[in-house]
Amino acid sequence: MIPITTFAGKKVAVFGLGSSGLASASALLAGGADVIASDDDSQSVAKVNAAGIPTADLREIDWSKIAALVLAPGVPLTHPVPHWTVALARKAAVEVIGDVELFCRERRLISPDAPFVAITGTNGKSTTTALIAHLAASAGMDVQVGGNIGTAILSLQPPQAGRVHVIECSSYQIDLAPSLDASIGILINLSEDHLDRHGTMANYAAVKEGLVGGVQQHGTAIVGVDDEWCRTIADRIEGSGKRVVRISVRQRLAAGIYVEQQRIMRVVPAANPPVLAGEEMIAALGGIGSLRGQHNAQNAACAAAAALSLGLEPAAIQAGLRSFPGLAHRMEEIGRRGAVLFVNDSKATNADSAAQALACFNDIFWIAGGKPKTGGIEALRRFFPRISKAYLIGEAAEEFAVTLSADVPHQITGTLDKALAAAASDAEASSAPEPVVLLSPACASFDQYRNFEVRGDAFRALVRGLPGVAAK
Ligand code: ADP
Repeated sequence: MIPITTFAGKKVAVFGLGSSGLASASALLAGGADVIASDDDSQSVAKVNAAGIPTADLREIDWSKIAALVLAPGVPLTHPVPHWTVALARKAAVEVIGDVELFCRERRLISPDAPFVAITGTNGKSTTTALIAHLAASAGMDVQVGGNIGTAILSLQPPQAGRVHVIECSSYQIDLAPSLDASIGILINLSEDHLDRHGTMANYAAVKEGLVGGVQQHGTAIVGVDDEWCRTIADRIEGSGKRVVRISVRQRLAAGIYVEQQRIMRVVPAANPPVLAGEEMIAALGGIGSLRGQHNAQNAACAAAAALSLGLEPAAIQAGLRSFPGLAHRMEEIGRRGAVLFVNDSKATNADSAAQALACFNDIFWIAGGKPKTGGIEALRRFFPRISKAYLIGEAAEEFAVTLSADVPHQITGTLDKALAAAASDAEASSAPEPVVLLSPACASFDQYRNFEVRGDAFRALVRGLPGVAAK
């Protein structure tokens, strides 16, 4: 735990008692603050109370005595409407912050030079975060990894010289961290998402910009420049005098890091541009199963840039990329039977995500369906030639069958076990050199499973239960 001492002796209200809220309350208490915790859910309140954390109804307290409201990231700050606690805090001119802000203030106090890598973007946050942590740990560094990816930031070990914190930040967490000042900030990409919580794209982009724009004066902002929003942001940060490393998987850059033919290249311009001081290969991605696809090349290039900024040598980066196990449910290779590869991409809950997986293989026996999203799989039409056959499950099955119609052989199997049985035997019987049985549903899981993790776990167990499958 990281005791938060910056509010010692002060009264702090904490609202939202999931794992991050609970960690905030405990950390503030350990640092000497007078904590009042609360939640709309009475069961969470009872649990926290039993753990010795004082609770109260925040409608009843004297807000003029409160130094800050610490909000869990799941609680709306602005959209669609500010939560009622936010309205009460604003009325009393009380600042509203989150756990990442508490971490930043404590770090500035106890170890301002401790390396702190913060990662955001619309897609690829968890993969990039896990990869940076893996690269740093493989090179022998003392690494703490958490934030949106799992362990609440304040449940980690405190910052100290030589220990690197690698923290995934959602836009909600950034919105609650006005003084976020990572030593290395990463913005992977931006596309429309979560507009329900941020109103407009401009507002969403401005929130994300806070993470890279706020890096420490001598820190590094790493920005993926393959979309227009991020290009503008990179230019603006550079204009403010901070060091920017641009990342592209689409084009060569005059300065920065780009990926071409699966090779991560670094270009260092001379002091007098446009003369090139040099271009070198940092690492090759070919043959690394956990980092297949252009999307993962973007994540890997961002991670390599962060690793270079942390002082890793290219050879260490190459070794770390090769040994990266990947994350569960994201193009996770779970086994092989003969030539057939089984891949769990249960995290692909929409067509955009499924597109990343379909782009990686050629002879696909595709298991798709679940609770459908608007637009269905129409956007995946360009990948149809790669699909040998589709096995459709869940509520979306009929709709997907209509879209696939005569273009792709398909079968409505209804459930995952039946889909896998059919796909596995068809893949085995096919003459394709590298058949892949791919669960990449392009749908939410809620019609048949609690969440995408449970769906992916079920798939993994079913695959491992097939006779003759060699687990990865
Ligand atoms: P996040 O944490 O931002 O949700 P993840 O790393 O968990 O991202 O990846 C989730 C899914 O998003 C992946 O399964 C893949 O389909 C897609 N994805 C990952 N990285 C990228 C990227 N750089 N660009 C576009 N899509 C990506």
